[in-house]
Amino acid sequence: MAKRARLNQRSEKRSAPLDSAARPSRASAEAAVRTLIRWAGDDPDREGLVGTPARVVRAYEEWFAGYFEDPRAYLKRTFEEVGGYDEIVLLRDIRFESHCEHHIAPIIGRVHIGYLPRNRIVGISKLIRLIDVYAKRLQVQEKMTAEIAKCLKSVLNPFGVGVVVEAAHECMTTRGVHKTDVTMVTSCMLGTFRTRAETRQEFLAAINLKDASL
Ligand SMILES: [Zn+2]
Repeated sequence: MAKRARLNQRSEKRSAPLDSAARPSRASAEAAVRTLIRWAGDDPDREGLVGTPARVVRAYEEWFAGYFEDPRAYLKRTFEEVGGYDEIVLLRDIRFESHCEHHIAPIIGRVHIGYLPRNRIVGISKLIRLIDVYAKRLQVQEKMTAEIAKCLKSVLNPFGVGVVVEAAHECMTTRGVHKTDVTMVTSCMLGTFRTRAETRQEFLAAINLKDASL
C-alpha cells in the first residue's frame, strides 16, 4: 500500500504542470506558433500560412491528448478475471507515434508487451489505449517503456511484465546526425520477466529479439 501511495505521489508531481489554471489560452498558443513561423523566416500573414497557427494548435491537441488521461484509472475499470489461464499474454508490433521531449520531433515505432497474468487480464484495445496515453505526451523512449510496464504491473499485479520498444527518432533522421537507418530499442522487464531467464527468453523469442544476457 505504501508503494502504491508513493507511485501516486510521483504521478501527481508529474502532472502538476498540467493544472488547467496554468494552461495558456488557445489564442496565446496560436500566437506562439506565429512567433515560431517568424523565427523560421516566413510571414505568418501570407495566404498559405494564415490558418497554420490554428491547425498546429489543433494538431497539438491530438498529439498530446495523453496529458488529459489517467491510464491507471482506465485499466482499473476494465480488467477481467483470468479464468485459469496461466501462460504469457503477448501483444507485438503495436505501432505508436510520440514526440521526443528534446526537439518535439516525432518518434515512430512499435511496442511489444508481454505479461504473465496472476488473476487479471485486459483486452487488446485497453493495452493499445495504455500505450497511446503515454505516447501522446512529450517523451523519452526509455521513460515511456518503463511507464507502460510499471502501469501494467501496478494495476494488474501480474507475475511479470516485459515491454520492448523499437523506434526511429526524427530528431536524429532529419537533423543533427542525419542517420536514417538507426532504430533505438529499449526494454523494461519486471517480476518473472526479470528474474526468470526462461520467461524472458520466451517473450523475446516471440517478438524475434535475442536475450543478450543468455
Ligand atoms: Zn529529440
